[in-house]
Amino acid sequence: MGKLIVTNTSVLLPDMTIARGQTVETENGIISAIRPYQEGEEITLSGNKKTELLDGSRKLLMPGLCDSHMHTGQQLLKGQILDALPMIWTRIMLPFESTLTPEKMELSAELAALEMIKSGTTSFVDAGSYFMESAADVYLQSGLRGLLSASTMDDASLPDAIRHTADQNVAQTDALYDAYHGKGNLKVAYSLRSLISCTEELILKAAGHAKERGALLQAHMNEYPNEINFFLQRFGMRPIEYLEKLGVLDERFLAAHCILLSENEKDLLKKYEVKTCHCPFSNCGKGVPDTPALLQRGITVGLGTDGAAHGGLSLWNEMKIFRSVMNVGRGVGISEAAVMPAAKILRMATQGGYDYLHENGGSIAVGKEADFITISLRQPHLYPTGNLVNTLLECVTAADVCDNVVHGKTLMKDRAVQTLDEARILAKAERYFEQAEKITP
Ligand SMILES: [Zn+2]
Repeated sequence: MGKLIVTNTSVLLPDMTIARGQTVETENGIISAIRPYQEGEEITLSGNKKTELLDGSRKLLMPGLCDSHMHTGQQLLKGQILDALPMIWTRIMLPFESTLTPEKMELSAELAALEMIKSGTTSFVDAGSYFMESAADVYLQSGLRGLLSASTMDDASLPDAIRHTADQNVAQTDALYDAYHGKGNLKVAYSLRSLISCTEELILKAAGHAKERGALLQAHMNEYPNEINFFLQRFGMRPIEYLEKLGVLDERFLAAHCILLSENEKDLLKKYEVKTCHCPFSNCGKGVPDTPALLQRGITVGLGTDGAAHGGLSLWNEMKIFRSVMNVGRGVGISEAAVMPAAKILRMATQGGYDYLHENGGSIAVGKEADFITISLRQPHLYPTGNLVNTLLECVTAADVCDNVVHGKTLMKDRAVQTLDEARILAKAERYFEQAEKITP
């Protein structure tokens, strides 16, 4: 792998200050230098064929965003669940996912990868679906950094097409792990899709296989009141307490959502160094997480979109929604305007996400993974500003992302995706929807 050099750019540093007029160099996928730009250096550098140059002028170079929780298998459900009656999981999501095919998953991953690259997302965690091999092949080609899982549930009431035993479930992830873990920028995690749809046998087997391999284990946690009540009625304890009793909590456990937590559960998350994330748009209908208390305990918190069906895959949207939810839900009652400042939220969507993923990235510093994006700054809705960090949170949208780089490789250059054929994928999506309309009454 050659060198990538971004010249004459502003840089968002780990302490959330901005350094102007910088040149950022990467080597073998790692940030190797951040130094003052020298007038005309592009001319000298352009002679070296092994060096790729990106013009960073009038741009901000910042860490790429990490979508800590998404669902490739729900990409084709975009626009279909807003304002839907409750229990969308059993009424819409599960029936749809039980009709997935390898072809649908390939198209879903192609669209999700395009959407993520164009939104400034450089890494993501897929919570698990079906035919993940089809998605994995697309993500490999896309160059995105991804943590993938197979959907894992063994509840007897699931639709026939997706009902599997505990052993079949774990074997599916074993196969995905053997085929894709460590391949390109992909890793594989074990997953407990929905805890109330997993038997104790499955939870223990998935945790055991993850431990044997040093792999991560992820689950939707403390998302719905009926989930909490299920564990209270059955075991006399809450979900996180139940998992502690089973001995499956540790620093490799990824707990998505984490909305409805008791004080004891927050303490357990800290004790076992469990990693957490919220999905602000999706969570709005469920509750307001106590993020200040999680951060105060030093617990890792990332942000996720919960998949395209919940308002698309832009983390810029999620950050804005999260800021509003924190202010209304946690700040207004105590008259604390800065209950969740912009810098903290940006850190959650970048460093928090990379810590969640257990990856050495999420900030712009020498020795870190070269996973970064650039934002076009000289636009009427962004310029001028008295505080660029605030403006990043308040005003930047997915369309302002110019370049997207993962492990030193350019996935998008001046809004043109380099690793996937956008026109071909959109034409394929059009054919899919024309066909789908014919068969939908
Ligand atoms: Zn989810």
